[in-house]
Amino acid sequence: MIFKSQIIQKTVDFLLPPQCALCHEVTEKPYTLCVSCWGCLEFITSPKCSVCNVPLQNVDHDMPCIDCIKHPPIFSKAHAPLVYNDSLKKLILRFKNYDGLHLGPMFNNWLQRCNVENIDIIIPVPLHWWRFFMRQYNQATEIGKAVSKHTKIPINSSILKRHKSTETQGHKNKFLRYQNLSNAFVVVDPSHILKNTRVLLIDDVLTSGATVNACAKVLLKAGAINVDVLTIARAVKETANI
Ligand SMILES: [Zn+2]
Ligand SMILES: [Zn+2]
Repeated sequence: MIFKSQIIQKTVDFLLPPQCALCHEVTEKPYTLCVSCWGCLEFITSPKCSVCNVPLQNVDHDMPCIDCIKHPPIFSKAHAPLVYNDSLKKLILRFKNYDGLHLGPMFNNWLQRCNVENIDIIIPVPLHWWRFFMRQYNQATEIGKAVSKHTKIPINSSILKRHKSTETQGHKNKFLRYQNLSNAFVVVDPSHILKNTRVLLIDDVLTSGATVNACAKVLLKAGAINVDVLTIARAVKETANI
């Protein structure tokens, strides 16, 4: 039976060979990148900010960056395996806007490089209901489900809600991003399951931190002890666009 399914798979691969998720070059395995596109990824390694995960220069160990010292974020610590560069931007946009859920396992492999510890509950950054209706899925929930399956940490995608439809944040400066997101999120937790929990908040990209800070604020107010953040990518310039 196994032999038969291997023959069927080899025939499918011959007729429809797996392609690179970015450039469509033929690859050995499905849902991966060719050697050339793989080389375009920028994995984040030390030295990096020990709070917001931004890569650091001119230091030899992890430490808080200037921004985190001057304006400490509300979340405790951010994790992301990759820099949000042009190649990754194409993949993430496909993942969240063009029915690209098949890219999930590839992202999950990269997320496993992050050393996320001491977490009680996984909570995805919610979409406004209208955007969810249009897209039919929330990319943060899909990432969260994969992380939950791998780590065995429970996920709750209904406790945090976005009750204000915020415009796309990319073109706004930092102050306007915070203003736009104030009161955008609400926690609905009648059973107080958040009390004394350590939360891992999941999103696709961390840019200014405005969205995850707005979420962390209401999660802490609802009783969480601390909120860590996990994203696929970390923007390294304020001009980064999502
Ligand atoms: Zn490629
Ligand atoms: Zn920082």
